[in-house]
Formats: sequence, C-alpha cells, structure tokens
Amino acid sequence: MRGIPVYQAPRGTQDVLPEDEKYWRYVEETAVKLAGQFGYGLIRTPTFEDTSLFVRGVGESTDIVTKEMYTFEDKGGESLTLRPEGTAPVLRAYLEHGMANRPQPVKMYYLMSMYRYDRPQAGRFREFNQFGVEVVGDASPGVDAEVILLLWRFLEALGLKGLTIQLNSIGCPRCRPRYLELLVHHFTQHRMQLCHDCQRRLEVNPLRLLDCKNEQCQPAILAAPASADHLCDDCRQHFVDVRGMLEAIELPVVLNPRLVRGLDYYTRTVFEVYPPVEGAQAALGGGGRYDGLMEQLGGKPTPGIGFATGIERIIQNIKNQGIAVPEVGKPFLYVAYLGEAARLPAFELADQARRMGIPTVATLGPRSMKAQMKLANNLGARFAFILAEQEIEAGTVTVRDMARSTQWQEPRASALEHLLQAKG
Ligand code: AMP
Repeated sequence: MRGIPVYQAPRGTQDVLPEDEKYWRYVEETAVKLAGQFGYGLIRTPTFEDTSLFVRGVGESTDIVTKEMYTFEDKGGESLTLRPEGTAPVLRAYLEHGMANRPQPVKMYYLMSMYRYDRPQAGRFREFNQFGVEVVGDASPGVDAEVILLLWRFLEALGLKGLTIQLNSIGCPRCRPRYLELLVHHFTQHRMQLCHDCQRRLEVNPLRLLDCKNEQCQPAILAAPASADHLCDDCRQHFVDVRGMLEAIELPVVLNPRLVRGLDYYTRTVFEVYPPVEGAQAALGGGGRYDGLMEQLGGKPTPGIGFATGIERIIQNIKNQGIAVPEVGKPFLYVAYLGEAARLPAFELADQARRMGIPTVATLGPRSMKAQMKLANNLGARFAFILAEQEIEAGTVTVRDMARSTQWQEPRASALEHLLQAKG
C-alpha cells in the first residue's frame, strides 16, 4: 500500500529471534547461577531516571553524558533519561531504600537493557544488555578480588577460552592529584603530537587521554607515567592485596597501566576483560571501585565496586568460539490428528501432556498427515501422538518414535505415562 513505510528496527537496535533464544538463556541463566553462588541478590531499576542522576553519577565530562544519552522531557516537563548504565541507578536505589541499614556489604546483580546514542558498529549498539554486579558498603581488597573472580568464573562457566583480565589501580583523591600533575606535565610536552580530542582532554580530563585509541597519540601514551607507580601507601597496599588474592587462585591477570576510568569518584581498582582477538570494541566487560560516588549522589561516604558485561558481545564470542549451548524450545511431543472427530481429543490430549510437564506442540487445524509428521520432525519432537478415526473409536493413541521411525498403539493414559518416563 502506498504511504506506509517499510518499518525496520531503529538504527543500533536489534531483534532477538527464537533461533537465538538458546544463547540468551544460556548466558542469562549462567549469570543468575553464578550470582547466586556468590551470594548476590537481583535488583531491577526503572528503564528511565531523572537526567541529573546520570549527569552526577556518570560524570559531566564523560562521552556518555556529553554525547550519548537518550534524554527527553515527559508530558509533565520532567527531564528523564533512558538508563545508559547500571551503577548510578543501583546506588540511587541503595540510598532510596535505606540499604545502609542492612548487613554490609550489599551485593546486587542486574540483567538490564542500556541505551547509548553511540555510532553503531560491530559489537556496539544503541540498545544493548548488560549483566552487572555492584557491591556496596565494603572497602576491603577482598571485595575487589571477589568481584573480579565472579566476572572470571562467569565467563569461564560459559566456556569462553583465551580471555585476559587487565588490571590497574588509579589511586584515590589523596594520591591522584600529584599523579595528574605528572601526567599533564608529560602530555603538555607532547601536546603537538596529540589528536584534537586529546588536546581537549588535557584540559578537562587528563586521565582519559591514556584511553585514546588514536594511532597518533600512542607514542606519547606509551611514554606516560603509570598511576600504579604513584600510589599513596594505602592504595599501594590495597593493590598488592588484590593482586595477591587473584594470583593465589591463578587468574590470568595482566597489569595495564593505561587502563583508566576518568572520573574523580573512581578509586583504586579498575579492570577489563578481553577476548583473544582484540579490537577497538572488544571488551567483554569491565568495572572498578567507586568509593567517591555515593557522596556525589548525596549519600554518606560509602565504598562500592562493580562490573558490567555486554551480553550481545558475549554471545558473539560464544558463536565465534563455536561453543555448543544447550538446545531450548524443542517439543518432546507432537500431537497430530486427522479428521474432524479427532480435533478436540487431540487438543485435550496435548493439554494433558503439558500439564504433566511434557513440552508439547499440537496441530490446531486440518493438515495432511505427511505435513504434520514433517513439522514434528523439523521441530525436533522426540515422539508424536497420532489421533485419527481408528484411535478415536478404540480410545487409544498411536505413538510414533520419531528417531527410530517405529510406531504402536496404546491407551492414552499409559502412553502419557510412558512418555513421561522416557523424558526422564
Ligand atoms: P561500560 O558500561 O561502558 O563499562 O561497558 C561495559 C560492557 O558493556 C562493555 O565491556 C561491553 O561489553 C558492553 N557495552 C558497552 N557499550 C556497549 C554498546 N554500545 N553496545 C554493546 N555493548 C556495549
């Protein structure tokens, strides 16, 4: 029809189709299982929040806040923003629900969609999903080590191979100013070799310079002083303890002095996980400690640490590595019928089978038996029940073993019982 556009999912978004369900289930169920094993509880926050929560909680100078937020005014004139990340909302919930009164630390995990107006490309979307955790209320290095361990065990449980964890410490408000001075001094000397963005970063957020992927900036970045070499005694000891615990369980940690989070409320430990083939968009997940963030959001000083992983990127890596994931959605039983007299009995039998816990697909309208058996095969059903005139008269059902291509007749009740046993 003229005038009706051909609709497509908005740029940077995608549909998850039934054939990919197994991957999503596999990743999300593994996340739920691992989070449970480590004693984390699920948290879900609203899809949108007050815009200012993210401006304060992510940071005014970040790419997320300056360029990537989906911000809109609602009909009441409130400025709202689709959640671009999970930490600020989770801390908001911690404050709002007085979680400081619960035993500390409070350990939470989430599986939530995020929204960033980013330039879409491989592994980078405008709507994407994250599995993340936040541990609030404990500054011990053991918490850092356990959060990194959970991230690692999760990715390992998925069967991913060849991953590396990169680790760094960016110090605290006590030691960082001195380090930043050294950094600014260094980059000012190399100012003319820096890209345009980095020249600006040098003014607003010098730490972020270390993160620049631009070829032109690499020589200056490689020669830059490392934050881990300029920590105060407390931060140095914290870093030594975190590394010691990770080494004790033999996690393949690689120190990366260029790994940063460029905001003041990020403190000490930062980490990222990379798959074997590294690309600009390759990080599977990352996180860090944010001991200054709660104050930024109006709470009492409260330490915290967390990570977030991108589920779409993880699924892409599972596919790339050819990891076999459990099949889902296959019916165990297909109920076929022939002739109007068998229509209702077939409908009822399928219902009975499902109520006994047997995943069942049924024919719902007239079709040839050949078409029905073909469908049962395509769906991967292990058995088929066939109801036609003969079975209706005898009060039985024909049971077909789809794999062995054998079939027999038996009373319906016993056929259901046998199927239940066969299903195990
Ligand atoms: P971040 O919240 O930026 O630290 O990102 C944590 C993880 O989320 C990354 O390591 C990615 O796996 C994933 N991620 C971040 N941004 C995107 C995006 N635009 N599209 C898909 N995944 C993303």
